Amino acid sequence: MSSVAAYIDALLAGAPGDLYVDGVWRPASSGDRFVVSDPATGQPICEVADGGTADGSAALDAADRAQEAWAAVPARERSDLLMAAFHLLHENADAFARLITAEMGKSLAEARGEVTYGAEFLRWFAEEAVRVDGRSGVLPSGRLRMLVDQRPVGPCLLITPWNFPLAMATRKIGPALAAGCTAVVKPAELTPLTTLALTKVLEEAGVPAGVVNVVTTADPAAATGHLLADPRLRKLSFTGSTPVGKRLLAAAAEGVLRCSMELGGSAPFIVFEDADLDEAVAGAIAAKTRNIGEACTAANRFLVHESVQEPFVERFAAAMGELVVGSGTAHDTDLGPLIDERSRERVHALVTDAVAQGARAVVGGNLPDGPGHFYPATVLDGVAPDARVVTEEIFGPVAPVQTFADEDEAVRLANSTPYGLVGYVYTRDLDRTLRFVPRLQLGMVGVNTGVVSDPAAPFGGVKESGLGREGGREGIAEYLEHQYVGIVR
Ligand code: ADP
Repeated sequence: MSSVAAYIDALLAGAPGDLYVDGVWRPASSGDRFVVSDPATGQPICEVADGGTADGSAALDAADRAQEAWAAVPARERSDLLMAAFHLLHENADAFARLITAEMGKSLAEARGEVTYGAEFLRWFAEEAVRVDGRSGVLPSGRLRMLVDQRPVGPCLLITPWNFPLAMATRKIGPALAAGCTAVVKPAELTPLTTLALTKVLEEAGVPAGVVNVVTTADPAAATGHLLADPRLRKLSFTGSTPVGKRLLAAAAEGVLRCSMELGGSAPFIVFEDADLDEAVAGAIAAKTRNIGEACTAANRFLVHESVQEPFVERFAAAMGELVVGSGTAHDTDLGPLIDERSRERVHALVTDAVAQGARAVVGGNLPDGPGHFYPATVLDGVAPDARVVTEEIFGPVAPVQTFADEDEAVRLANSTPYGLVGYVYTRDLDRTLRFVPRLQLGMVGVNTGVVSDPAAPFGGVKESGLGREGGREGIAEYLEHQYVGIVR
């Protein structure tokens, strides 16, 4: 068994997780630990180090010390390290899937999918590492020769959420390392174990000490808040909720940090009257129930042309009703548990609020008994335009349906939110696609598909959904600065 799989098995058997600072695994300086639990059972899995202010500082010290040497490592070598990590992740895919399911709840099949998706960021950015280029020329005045180089921005703070504990980490660590940046990684307190296992992979692949430092903590503000004002930190990349993202952006202004923010979404899923309804239902299931609906890309509002509302709702509700709710480890599970009880109560409150305002639960809508934070696939028809379920990010397998009469109304409804991450459009009319899609205030649009995320494509939003892009050619640019050198001729 590889040392990575053995490490994962030990965590799953209750062994404690440590911080990783300057190439050393060690407890928090306070000696404190916090519990990580399985959302399907509510039972503890193990405890991990509860890093504090001193540990955050030690991690940035290490990242800062390693920065210059790491930037000087030839791009081909950095690329090879990322590629080695990609292969190691695949070799340990089953163990990673078990770990993701245990701490996050998604089904093993989805966890396996996340391993493939997450590993792909390492391969993509291994390929991008050697494509960072510059340019040269003579200024129009003829006075100076211009050289434009791209340089790593410097030490980064990478803060990841719990919903894709592997992929959100590789999506940040991959481009940071490819660009020549060092990092302090702070995983979500609900799902720190996958990041620790990924760190084992990076260590085994040969990433030098200090290049990646991981601080697990139950108090993220205490462990990382002071780093935002530390002049050695040069960049923040954050994925999480919009309110926390706004607070961190404000704090990052102190050090004028480069910021990449991937925040909330409220994706419209728009079905036109000419759509292939079977395809639309299949896409709706994917867009709504992937990751138990706990994704910023999840369809949050179903906008259906009034002439096809009845058949769409009927077929969609029938398909949602067939989804199996259960522990992620059961072989037939479609919908694992929500991440915690607070989430489940919030999702149910959105449903009861909508029903109180006249919506009809065509399927689902009931709160199952515990243990585990399970919630059934739910379709709500006739939802009021200002019901919380359409104005807030749901983060659960609940699908509110509204209707529209024409393209103008669809645009108005789709754009009537502070968010602008992604949307989905079902139509067979190419003219309509080309006319309609540019009117959507969205960073990403899927046409006749319910899933757009791909490591080779620029992922990100407009409006309050965030700043910057992750993945694609754009992803590495977030970690690079231009340096212009003017040389007298
Ligand atoms: P969610 O509601 O999805 O849990 P959050 O925005 O609360 O989203 O969390 C996303 C990430 O941000 C997690 O890693 C969390 O620990 C971290 N986080 C939350 N508050 C802070 C903070 N004040 N400083 C730094 N990180 C934070």
